[in-house]
Amino acid sequence: MIQLVQVAVENEMDLALAYKKSIKAAGLLGLSISTQTSFATAVSEVCREVIDKTHEGLVSIEIHGEKEPFQIVAIITYKEAPKVGSLEEGLKYARKLVPQFSFSVLNGKGTITLKMGIPRACLVNSTKISAAKTYFENVGPNTPYEEVRQHNLQLFLINEKSELALWQSEYLNQQKNEFLSVASHELRTPLTILKAFTQMALKSECSPVTLAHLKKVDAQALKMQALIQQLMDISKLENREADYNKEQIDFNSFLNEIIELIPQLAPLHELIIDLSESVVVSIDKLRIEQVILNLVGNAAKYSPGNGQIKLSSKSNSNGEVVVSIQDYGIGMSPEELHKIFDKFYRVEQVSRKYNGLGMGLYISSKIITDHGGKIWVESVEGSGCTFSFSIPLIFIPVEKDKVAE
Ligand code: ADP
Repeated sequence: MIQLVQVAVENEMDLALAYKKSIKAAGLLGLSISTQTSFATAVSEVCREVIDKTHEGLVSIEIHGEKEPFQIVAIITYKEAPKVGSLEEGLKYARKLVPQFSFSVLNGKGTITLKMGIPRACLVNSTKISAAKTYFENVGPNTPYEEVRQHNLQLFLINEKSELALWQSEYLNQQKNEFLSVASHELRTPLTILKAFTQMALKSECSPVTLAHLKKVDAQALKMQALIQQLMDISKLENREADYNKEQIDFNSFLNEIIELIPQLAPLHELIIDLSESVVVSIDKLRIEQVILNLVGNAAKYSPGNGQIKLSSKSNSNGEVVVSIQDYGIGMSPEELHKIFDKFYRVEQVSRKYNGLGMGLYISSKIITDHGGKIWVESVEGSGCTFSFSIPLIFIPVEKDKVAE
């Protein structure tokens, strides 16, 4: 006989430990999952019955046999000897799980033995048995209190690790933001010079071919300028350096100014406007313009067959105005809807076909949340998207004499 492990049982925590040790022992010996479970369940059922009737017991998990076939055995001993009959009733289920089941009562000490044959296919030999024994000697715990202590230690180590990882990621994030900020500033200066000279060259006399080339340089420089601006925005928004210049304005007049700019951005699309009654909002006009132009630019970019772009506004009963930009383009799948406001996220199939960095929606969502609003998208893949954002309304108190009128 070789004893693998012993557990004293007095309460529910001990029962759980006895179950875990039994399942581990059966597992180490190579028994199937269902046999491991039957064995461990039977052990904990017996232990439960024993502590119910006698308040304490001791489980010993052992291996019996000199050579194959070996047996895995659980011996549960208890001090008082209750009437065998009263114990037996509660042990029917354990008996079903492990039919090799025996009782004995001697000198006030009771013993219940559960035995299970270990199939030859498990290839149990002396090496495997001593490995299992060593496992229990080294791994512990043998009391639930020790188990709690070990769990606490593990939690402490996990906590330490995650704090370190958090610190590292914060540090890397800071480094990245500094890099973005420096790189975008450094890129902006030569680009401004490049644009200025291109503009000058465009005004000078040159051949039609050179003129066409210069126009391409100018257009690409403009795109680069927009990308650099996005990089600068990200570093500002993340460093909380974005200072919003908010003012109370009439929202429809503001929207009408932006609508004038849209044909340059989406020259081939038909624009449909549907504005509800005007309201007063407090916004940074340039930033909200940036959001609307980004959404309209995307609507045009991702609906290559041209078609319509619909811009609408509506105030609701939650005290907000909702602006929606609808297109009838490629749309996106439900899985993608949740990710597109993440930094640098681009839909994979889309990124091969359309230019972009995946920053526009991230920046837009930051701007909108900084205005106390929300941004969201609805879409049917292949049929288009509707991007909407909300902005809280400013309520202007009605003058008393006007009410009297
Ligand atoms: P970019 O357009 O530069 O990639 P955005 O942050 O503006 O970056 O958009 C993120 C992604 O969301 C895009 O790459 C695209 O996959 C998807 N997307 C945005 N707008 C639309 C739209 N109107 N229709 C379909 N997909 C869109």
